[in-house]
Amino acid sequence: MASLSFSVKDVPPEGTRIACVVGKEDLQLDEHDPGIQDVLALTATIHADETNFLVEGELNGLLLHECVRCLESFATPADLSFQAVYKDRSQRRSKEPEAVPGDSEREETDCRSVVEQRIELQEMLREQLILSIPMQPLCSEGCQGLCQVCGQNLNVQRCGCKEVKTESPFAILQEAKLSQKPLA
Ligand SMILES: [Zn+2]
Ligand SMILES: [Zn+2]
Repeated sequence: MASLSFSVKDVPPEGTRIACVVGKEDLQLDEHDPGIQDVLALTATIHADETNFLVEGELNGLLLHECVRCLESFATPADLSFQAVYKDRSQRRSKEPEAVPGDSEREETDCRSVVEQRIELQEMLREQLILSIPMQPLCSEGCQGLCQVCGQNLNVQRCGCKEVKTESPFAILQEAKLSQKPLA
């Protein structure tokens, strides 16, 4: 398991570089979260100033999705870059006001707290990953989905259910008429 927790004491003024691989367990992904094919490569830098730490980096690898139409799983490359600020609030009690909504600094940068002298990357990375996932993943723009009747994956093969559904009432009527004729 990769360690995604860093003591602020270990971050020198010039910053520190992180390069490791992270897996499902490292990010505590559960079954509703996007899957990962094998592991993701994490590269990041932690920069320190007086009370804040800026974490910048990337997650690279393959993410697994389930297509909303055909339910097949497929992989897409994750090239996720992120930036987060960790504020050490214990050292700046009354001097600076807490960030207020609409603060321009907050726009793109994720703002978090240093907790017990540690910078915890796990939750932040997990959220970044989840935010990067499309709401309606599609294996391809033209995915045909599944047949509503028999469940056949229509990307693989047509099943012919539609014809049966629309034509069968008439077909049955016609057959009934034909079979009655000889009796009359
Ligand atoms: Zn699909
Ligand atoms: Zn069908």
